[in-house]
Amino acid sequence: MPATVCGVDEVVTLASELIRIDTTNTGEPSGTRGERAAAEYVATRLEEAGYETTYVESGAPGRGNVIARLPGADPSRGALMVHSHLDVVPAEASEWSVHPFSGEVSGGYVWGRGAVDMKHLAAMSLAVARRFRRDGVVPPRDLVFAYLADEEAGGVHGAGWLVEHRPELFDGVTEAISEVGGFSLTVGDGVRAYLVETAEKGVGWLRLHTRGTAGHGSLLHTDNAVAKLAAAVARLDAHEFPLVLTPPVRDFLAGVSDLTGVAFDEADPAAVLGRLGAVARMIGATLRDTANVTMFSAGYKDNVVPSTASAIFDCRLLPGREEGFLREVDAVVGPSVRREWKSMPPVSTSFDGVLVDAMTAAITAEDPDARLLPYMLSAGTDAKAFQRLGIRHLGFAPLRLPPDLDYTALFHGVDERVPVDGLLFGARVLDRFLRVC
Ligand SMILES: [Zn+2]
Repeated sequence: MPATVCGVDEVVTLASELIRIDTTNTGEPSGTRGERAAAEYVATRLEEAGYETTYVESGAPGRGNVIARLPGADPSRGALMVHSHLDVVPAEASEWSVHPFSGEVSGGYVWGRGAVDMKHLAAMSLAVARRFRRDGVVPPRDLVFAYLADEEAGGVHGAGWLVEHRPELFDGVTEAISEVGGFSLTVGDGVRAYLVETAEKGVGWLRLHTRGTAGHGSLLHTDNAVAKLAAAVARLDAHEFPLVLTPPVRDFLAGVSDLTGVAFDEADPAAVLGRLGAVARMIGATLRDTANVTMFSAGYKDNVVPSTASAIFDCRLLPGREEGFLREVDAVVGPSVRREWKSMPPVSTSFDGVLVDAMTAAITAEDPDARLLPYMLSAGTDAKAFQRLGIRHLGFAPLRLPPDLDYTALFHGVDERVPVDGLLFGARVLDRFLRVC
C-alpha cells in the first residue's frame, strides 16, 4: 500500500459489521427492518471520529438516515455528497454458501447481502470520513456523507422523502457520487476499464388491463379477458424497440473498441458487446428501451372465465424516448387493451470537469494502466431523487475486480460478495479522490 494513503484498512471490518445488521427491505412495512440499527451504527462510527451527525426518519418509524458534513477549504464551491443506501433486498439463506447476514470474511471476500449493493461504499466512505476527521484533513470543498433508507423500494421512505420534506439537509450540495460505477471491467489483453456512471435510464411502470365476457368455463368463449391479455403481453414481449445510441453508450462502446481493437459499427454494435462478457446484459439493455412483464393477475376460480385481467411491465427508457415508447406500446398491444403509466425520468450528465479529472487521477494513481469510461446504467438509483434538487450525479464507488468475476450477477444475487483487496483498493481511491475533488 502506498505510504501516502493508509489507515482506511478498517473498511473491511466496517463492511462486515454493516452486512451483519440485517436491513432487509421487502417494500412492505411489515417485512422491512434494521435501517434504524444500521443508521445508529454509522452515526456512532462518525461521532467516535468527531463528527456531529443528523439522524432523520424519513416518513415512517425506523426508516433511519444519517447525514454528516466535513467543512472544506473553499465554502464558495458547492458541496460534494457521497451517499449510500443502507437497506438491502431480501436473501434466502438456504440458497447461499454462507449465511447472507454473516458478513463473513473468507477466501479473499467479504460475503453477504449488501456487499456490492451497497454497503461497500457505505463502509468505504465511513472509513475515509473517519480518517479525514481524525487526521484533520481539509478537503477542497465541503463534503456531505449521507447514509439512506429505502433505496430498494424506490426511496419513497428514503431519498425521495428527504428531498421532499427536508431539502435543507442538502443545502449547497451541487454534485454527488454513489452507486453504480467505478468498478473495473477487464477487456482486451488484461486492460482494466473503470466504468463511471454518467446516465441512468428512466423507469416506467406499465399496467395493461383487458375486459371480456365472464361466464362458465365449460362454454364456448370468444371474448376472454385472460386470453386477450396473454396475447397482448406476448406481442409486447416479442417487440424490439429501436436502437438509439445515446452519447454515454456511444462513448463507452467506442472506448471498448479502442481498448480491444474490435471494430465498432454504430448500426450493429454486437461485435463490441461480445467483448464485454457478462456486463453485456446490462450494456445491451442501454441500446434501446426495454419492457419486461413482471406480474400477471387474473381469475378467481378454475371454472370461471373472469371479466378482467391485468399485467405489469417493468419498462426502462432511454432519454427522450417516453413519447415514442408509449406510441409503440399502443400500436403493439392494440386498442382493446387499456393502459396505465407512471414514470420517473432518466438522469444524465457529461463526462468531464473537475470531478472526472479527480476520479481519473485517483484511479490511475492506484492502477496506472486503467482507463475510465462513461456508461449508462440500465436501472435507477437515488440519483433520481437528488436530481430534483439539481444535484449532478456520477456513479463512482471505486472497486477493482478480478477479471472473471460476474459483477452484475452479484446485485440482488445469491452469494453476493466483494473482494477484500478490491475493497481496500476502493477505499484508497476514494481517499485520494476526496482530497482533490
Ligand atoms: Zn443499490
